[in-house]
Amino acid sequence: MQHLPKKFHTPSSLQTHTYSHTEEKPFKCPVEGCGRHFSVVSNLRCHQKFT
Ligand SMILES: [Zn+2]
Repeated sequence: MQHLPKKFHTPSSLQTHTYSHTEEKPFKCPVEGCGRHFSVVSNLRCHQKFT
């Protein structure tokens, strides 16, 4: 088995990378009436800071 690039070693980062291709956004803002979705949880956290 070949060594993968370091950034793909953990399953979570690989999943995040996959989301960047599929544009899937599994993290939904919990604020009622907002309904924004984010592909990575850090973007959601940043969004919540300004809500
Ligand atoms: Zn929101």
